[in-house]
Amino acid sequence: MKLPYAEPYRIKMTEEIHQSAPEERAEWIKNSHYNLFNLKSSQVFIDLLTDSGTGAMSDKQWAALMTGDESYAGSRSFEQLYNTVNKLTGFKHLLPTHQGRAAENVLFSVLVKEGNIIPGNSHFDTTKGHIEFRKAHAIDCTIDEAFDINNLYPFKGNIDLNKLEKVYQEYGKEKIPFCLITITCNSSGGQPVSMENIKAVRELSNQYGIPVFFDSARFAENAYFIKKREAAYQDKSIKEIVRELYSYGDGMTMSSKKDGLVNIGGFIALNNDEVFQKASNFTIIYEGFITYGGMAGRDMAALAQGLDEATEFTYLESRISQIEYLGNKLIEYGIPIQRPIGGHAVFIDALTFLPNVPRAEFPAQTLAIELYKEAGIRGVEIGILLADRDPETRENRYPKMELLRLAIPRKTYTNNHMDYIAAALKNVFERKNEITKGYKITWEPDILRHFTVHLTEA
Ligand SMILES: *Cc1c(COP(=O)(O)O)cnc(C)c1O
Repeated sequence: MKLPYAEPYRIKMTEEIHQSAPEERAEWIKNSHYNLFNLKSSQVFIDLLTDSGTGAMSDKQWAALMTGDESYAGSRSFEQLYNTVNKLTGFKHLLPTHQGRAAENVLFSVLVKEGNIIPGNSHFDTTKGHIEFRKAHAIDCTIDEAFDINNLYPFKGNIDLNKLEKVYQEYGKEKIPFCLITITCNSSGGQPVSMENIKAVRELSNQYGIPVFFDSARFAENAYFIKKREAAYQDKSIKEIVRELYSYGDGMTMSSKKDGLVNIGGFIALNNDEVFQKASNFTIIYEGFITYGGMAGRDMAALAQGLDEATEFTYLESRISQIEYLGNKLIEYGIPIQRPIGGHAVFIDALTFLPNVPRAEFPAQTLAIELYKEAGIRGVEIGILLADRDPETRENRYPKMELLRLAIPRKTYTNNHMDYIAAALKNVFERKNEITKGYKITWEPDILRHFTVHLTEA
């Protein structure tokens, strides 16, 4: 018999989590204005809000913390991080930042001007926030297959080259400072971008003289999918794939809280000397000196180790297998999820799951609240709340999909937890026809509203 897959690690330390009663949860979520970001972690049993900074570190990473060099300038830990990033990506400059959005803030302060256009596959929310805050525009050129949750196309993060070329023709390099490829494409469901597509985007961008940057939070998971799904890469190591992928870019921003396997941190890596010089100045005013950028030396040491471990095949296999395990359970129960199953999360199609909740009453948020009330599980809405209002018209934007994301933290929960999550969703699914009402907004901020919005029952 073929041996089943098992994790390439064992657990050395545990953390207690708490069950609660349905009546308690109903009270807590009401007091949180029906916004799951307002819940205390002690009110949550299984926390799938995000896979960002919520994972477990290895013993080698914990050991690396103890070797951290806290020198203000030129620390040994910076050197370790520089060497690791340089070896993995080939980029010659590195600027650490305190997290991914800080990397965006620094880089975009140099490159993005009012009225600019930033095309790419679906931009991440903070990325879009940093673009729109500068009165520039993000244009989504993702392939149409990405928005059909049952389409099994293996690279649903890909950029549609025709859409991209139209944007290039209309605005040209005067208005377009760079094209941004998000790997994996978070907003379209943790879907990967193929090497073939990355190469083609590079070639097209070269014709128009436009640089290519990567929003890299889940670059290792993307490389795993390239190895598994793109024939030419099946015999390549993850590290070889990563190196090739970055050879088609001019630089990257990184949220180390994902594939860096650490709890906080980020960085920019790039080749252009002039952009590096300018970005260094912004790093100093926003983040810290250029060899730490808001990170402790020990955190840079743990990150260097984490990046190395995240780009090992056995780790990635166990990571992605767990997401597939949960996704396949849900499919078995008839629950509508996005397919193929993504890299860091399972995405549930709330429009199909809750057909009786009007679109204007936030079906995905409604489902997130129902799942929390059912079992103390915290997921996150990827729908109208997240899509926010159009910055000019202030109208609600209706994205093509209305999803509940269950993001799985790295190396944190067991498959028993996955079984519990699947059972809870099945229970909600069985009473879906009784759920006919959603929520309405009572207060919202001007930008990135989903984090702090207040809701009440519609
Ligand atoms: C998380 C993330 C960011 C922002 O990073 P933070 O570390 O949360 O600030 C940017 N882009 C993508 C694709 C992300 O997943």
